[in-house]
Amino acid sequence: MNGKLLGILIGMTAATSLQAADVTSAMLANTAKDPSSVLSFGIGSEGQRYSPLTQINTKTVGKLIPAWSFSFGGEKQRGQESQPLIHNGKMFVTGSYSRIFAIDLKNGAKLWKYEHRLPDGIMPCCDVVNRGAALYGNLVIFGTLDAQLVALDQDTGKVVWKEKVDDYAAGYSMTSAPLIAKGLLLTGVSGGEFGIVGRVEARDPMTGQLVWTRPTVEGHMGYKYDKAGKAIENGISGTTNKSWPGELWKTGGAATWMGGTYDNSTGLAYFGTGNPAPWNSHLRPGDNLFSSSTVALDVTTGQIKWAYQNTPNDAWDFDGANEFVTFDMDGKRYGGKADRNGFFYVIDAKDGKLQNAFPFVKKITWATSIDLKTGRPNFVAANRPGDPTKGADGKKGSTVFSAPAFLGAKNQMPMAYSPQTKLFYVPANEWGMDIWNEPISYKKGGAFLGAGFTIRPIFDDYIGAMRAVDPKTGKIVWEIKNNAPLWGGVMSTAGGLVFYGTPEGYLKAVDAKNGKELWKFQTGSGVVAPPVTWLEGGTQYVAVVSGWGGAVPLWGGEVAKKVSFLEQGGSVWVFKLIKG
Ligand code: CA
Repeated sequence: MNGKLLGILIGMTAATSLQAADVTSAMLANTAKDPSSVLSFGIGSEGQRYSPLTQINTKTVGKLIPAWSFSFGGEKQRGQESQPLIHNGKMFVTGSYSRIFAIDLKNGAKLWKYEHRLPDGIMPCCDVVNRGAALYGNLVIFGTLDAQLVALDQDTGKVVWKEKVDDYAAGYSMTSAPLIAKGLLLTGVSGGEFGIVGRVEARDPMTGQLVWTRPTVEGHMGYKYDKAGKAIENGISGTTNKSWPGELWKTGGAATWMGGTYDNSTGLAYFGTGNPAPWNSHLRPGDNLFSSSTVALDVTTGQIKWAYQNTPNDAWDFDGANEFVTFDMDGKRYGGKADRNGFFYVIDAKDGKLQNAFPFVKKITWATSIDLKTGRPNFVAANRPGDPTKGADGKKGSTVFSAPAFLGAKNQMPMAYSPQTKLFYVPANEWGMDIWNEPISYKKGGAFLGAGFTIRPIFDDYIGAMRAVDPKTGKIVWEIKNNAPLWGGVMSTAGGLVFYGTPEGYLKAVDAKNGKELWKFQTGSGVVAPPVTWLEGGTQYVAVVSGWGGAVPLWGGEVAKKVSFLEQGGSVWVFKLIKG
């Protein structure tokens, strides 16, 4: 018997409860390279959304046809922003209103469904969406609109554990996919429009028990938890009142609503944080850390290793929640982030030092550029909405036109990176807003904005633009304009393809090198979710969820009117190449 085999046998004996189909940390670390499954959101915890598969490629993609489709059913349609997971012959896919389905990969038949019982008073800001689940052991785990985590048995759909994360009546909710890193379940919270306190939590994925919590608003205490669940102080995030005046840090927002990414080579998890609360920036002079930032956390200790703030003293709800996608460039590990504020940032993944920052949309009014030496934006002071206390009646500050609009140059729809082309593929939007500030005070469960707004298109012929971005030069290598705002995610493949969906209902495949459209399919409703691909029995499949909704119809102002003809839906489509 050779040493390697002996090691495997000893390992098996030690973990007697481990089943063959159980998802392990080793499998999760390898999922970006192993095309037989899709074990995590982001197609790998780094979030590159790149598949090594080549069966479907620039030459064959024209022969892509539907294999099966599955309807989420019911009257509960609305926005479907979910990325499916693929494992052990099953697809796990979440739907609107905190639902999750397990589907037989062979034929699209439903294996089980779990519908979370939601209370009447949930307060999701931006539609009743869910973006996906996490897999660990024999469990599939997802967050709900009433701020709970639910872990289900992958085979039966039975609830194994359920934990309340926070009080939905205070505005907390959960919409993003949990992240598994170093055997821990990492989650964020939504609710930045209600003055919640953003944080990242680490739990034992098998039991739901808390391991540590780390607030993302400067001044709050972090905690570790012992085996009995007792909280032990683990250091304040930053320094109380250093970047926040008075008591405002207690309701400071910085929601970690998009979840995070994790890079094995740095051991750090990267979470974007949303707007500081309230939106009226005149009430909170200072940088308001760690809002509208990327926060890098040591997964083992729960400490903030570094933070980079994209929009200090954010006045436009630019958030900063966008995903930080790690990649190699010039022999170093960096992260790329296409921020809602219109700038694309390239940052050293280890120490948070800014390497490059450049616009990825045509019009940005709030800053002229990002100073690469200091890392701070060069603000245009006149384009900050005016202070209401200086207005004529003290009730409304001066209105400014601002671009991007608060729905962002990019929002929740995740971008992709291709190590083959060394380009990022960014679903961008060109829009602006009239925005003004009003007085506001915090009330539990009330919108905590102190601002009014109307979103408007900037150009007549398009709002969305699928853009290939070179992180080294800051050049837009190619773009594809889209009439409606893009709201679905992207996937790149070694077959030289980029897949993305449109609100008009199409899933499209284009040439990763030049953006030439090679294939499209009408899914019957708007696509606002990211595609995935995998290999099963020698056949490559592609899947995407279809179902128009999300923040645009609710908050889009003039843009929402422009796209009001789009119909809702709720289904997942699976494709493969036609034989011969
Ligand atoms: Ca926000």
